[in-house]
Amino acid sequence: MDYELLYQRALEEITFRQEFLNQIDLKEYKRYITKIIYKHKSKKDKRLMWCKPVFSFNIFKPVHSKIIVFVDAFDPQIHVNFADFYCSLIFHEGFHAFENYYNHHNANYIPPISAPHYDLFFDLRELRAYENQSKHLTAENINGGLFCHCLGDVIV
Ligand SMILES: [Zn+2]
Repeated sequence: MDYELLYQRALEEITFRQEFLNQIDLKEYKRYITKIIYKHKSKKDKRLMWCKPVFSFNIFKPVHSKIIVFVDAFDPQIHVNFADFYCSLIFHEGFHAFENYYNHHNANYIPPISAPHYDLFFDLRELRAYENQSKHLTAENINGGLFCHCLGDVIV
């Protein structure tokens, strides 16, 4: 499958984006992710992608996640090519899904905003995802997410 061709088409055609996302091979991250959803949100929302744990009342079951991909993820200045896009989707958001699954930081737990460690909780979570991305940087995806994350902090 020529993912680069599909990605270029998805950049051009908004209506093709969900179909494009459905075709991406999630590889070893497949078991952690229930679905990937395209959301055409307003430009006011600066997020590119978002890994959202699927809530379950059964705290003993592994937590799966869905990944929401927002309109700005399809910006060729941010994700120059498919490798860039894939790097953000899999090695950043997929990594969050992996941590959610293994309850690494207890996916259902969000500290209250008044807690002294509130920012640290999210910073450490992001740091681990960036680190995972950095392990997968290649010549093809060197622009991949990591760089724009650091600049704009737009992937959460
Ligand atoms: Zn993140």
